[in-house]
Amino acid sequence: MPGNTSENKGLAKIIPTRSGPGLEHLWLPYAQMKTMPLPLSVKATHGCRIILADGRELIDGIASWWTACHGYNHSHIREAVEHQLATMPHVMFGGLVHEQALTLARRLAGLLGPGKLDRVFFSESGSVAVEVALKMALQYWCNRGIFGRDRIIAFKGGYHGDTSGAMAISDAEGGFHGTLSGALPQQIIIDLPVDEASTAALETVLAQHSEHIAAIIVEPLVQGAGGMRFHDAQVLQTLRTLADRYGLLLIFDEIFTGFGRTGTMFAFEQATVVPDIITLSKALTGGTLPLAATVARRNVFDAFWSDDAAKALMHGPTFMANALGCAAANASLDLFAREPRLGQVAKIEALLRAGLEPCRKLAGVKEVRVKGGIGVVELDRIENINKLRQRFIDEGVFVRPFGSIVYLTPAFTIAEEDLARLTSTVARVLA
Ligand code: PMP
Repeated sequence: MPGNTSENKGLAKIIPTRSGPGLEHLWLPYAQMKTMPLPLSVKATHGCRIILADGRELIDGIASWWTACHGYNHSHIREAVEHQLATMPHVMFGGLVHEQALTLARRLAGLLGPGKLDRVFFSESGSVAVEVALKMALQYWCNRGIFGRDRIIAFKGGYHGDTSGAMAISDAEGGFHGTLSGALPQQIIIDLPVDEASTAALETVLAQHSEHIAAIIVEPLVQGAGGMRFHDAQVLQTLRTLADRYGLLLIFDEIFTGFGRTGTMFAFEQATVVPDIITLSKALTGGTLPLAATVARRNVFDAFWSDDAAKALMHGPTFMANALGCAAANASLDLFAREPRLGQVAKIEALLRAGLEPCRKLAGVKEVRVKGGIGVVELDRIENINKLRQRFIDEGVFVRPFGSIVYLTPAFTIAEEDLARLTSTVARVLA
């Protein structure tokens, strides 16, 4: 069978092969289908466990791309979704609204700071939420009669999604979208202003080109998929100051950092600055259903508020504000309100620090860093990522290194002993 390398021959015995039922028709994400190891077939999930079709149980170290913040199958979310399913799974959002979406929008506006970020536009994925943010920023200027501001500033190491607009503001060097970079709109991708030199460089670009720039977009505090790099809250303050000085909009992409991951409900709270637009997804529904939101401040929304129909935001995904997704998100917010999630994140942070500390001394380890519920071991390089990923599975944990990064982003409800298993396994495997 093509691609059935010696590495995955062993796996083929216990999991479906690419020619097995269903799999021969799938096209999997971020994967060279010809040479990739066979994916694991999952039968069920519960708490912080992934149960494979062959009966093995893995402790989940990354909460399904950082979404399942309450663990899998939380009964409160399940009941809310079941109830909603019986009443109304979905209704189009053009000309119609529903209670779950109204409630969720009100709650998000309340959490994001009353009177600040308070206009919620729903969509169904993070990338689309970013596209909507970009469209809002670009049209904001046109609606105000200011033309030619058609460029976005984004940062090296950043990642904002896989749709065209989102790819164009992601760092192609990061390896995601390099192949297509020539086909995308050219945006300005520069260093984050982390020190005097990089701040001066950013200011130079702004001074020369600000009349062509609509907005600055950044993942606040943590650049996730681009390399799990951290920066200080001061960087966000600098960006707010510069955006104000040059009259630009500031967009925070909190699709990864939102809902507690960095220790506060939203990362921007740690910088005490407020963006003009924020994007949310991933943990919004507690990792149960696809839903995203782009939330704008009053100043942005006001630019669209007009008697002129042409000034409307022309966007409307078919499944926007899906009632099941909104019900799941409302239930997830209930859990944030009634269970000690941020306290759990603080505890996870301390345990990640202690548990990953031994990695510092290992040969080939460049850096160990922890912020909130994110623990990162950066290596000089990873020679065989598939082999490393398989080692973790053999050890009974699901950890998925990328680039030179081995990281943990567990559910906030993870048991202390499971987290200890994860950190000790990372240290042992890397050793
Ligand atoms: N922005 C950030 C910061 C992300 O981490 C991601 C997903 N990894 C996205 C946008 C895109 O989200 P989605 O995969 O839901 O389209």
